[in-house]
Amino acid sequence: QLFGEASTRASTVLLFVGAVVDAAFASSGAMHLGPRSGAGSVAHLPLGSGGSGGAEPCSCGRTGCLQSEVSERAMVRRAAEQGLIVGSFTELLDRALAGDARALALFRRRARLVGRGAALLLDMFDPEVLVVVEPGAGRIPECLADLRAEVAERSWVCEDPERAVVPSSFTGSVLATAGGAVALGALYTDPLGPWPALPAVS
Ligand SMILES: [Zn+2]
Repeated sequence: QLFGEASTRASTVLLFVGAVVDAAFASSGAMHLGPRSGAGSVAHLPLGSGGSGGAEPCSCGRTGCLQSEVSERAMVRRAAEQGLIVGSFTELLDRALAGDARALALFRRRARLVGRGAALLLDMFDPEVLVVVEPGAGRIPECLADLRAEVAERSWVCEDPERAVVPSSFTGSVLATAGGAVALGALYTDPLGPWPALPAVS
């Protein structure tokens, strides 16, 4: 909301897909955190039937959770199961960007599953924009198209996924941008307010 597209400022859901999966909701410039700062904990959203073939057990003990199906670790493991041995998630992404068919298929599958979560979040919050932080959707046009197609099939509220579902403006640098946004957000909210006390120098 501070640095990205102006369309995110009325109401936004952000869906983050990386080593973990998480979501956030902001409306009229304010984040909803909840009393336990737990709002947006969508890691264990059940994907329902068809989510997984050879499902990986989730840390919560169930199978077929959004995070256990689409996390970076799950992607690397699934690649290995298919004989595509990579040293890291970044390497898998590089393979997909270079056009490796197996790697690309994994990212397209991920985009479909993320689209299921996105559709549910759109129906729950009806935001102006849903921002997806996921490198496939951010950098591979087929993945973004798959994600939007899944939203079109599943969301009851979203009538225009092309407009309402957008990749992050900060693909590749999102964590650094997020860190800066936390600090600058506090400053912009109260520019003349007291700075946090620094530890005393002994
Ligand atoms: Zn789970």
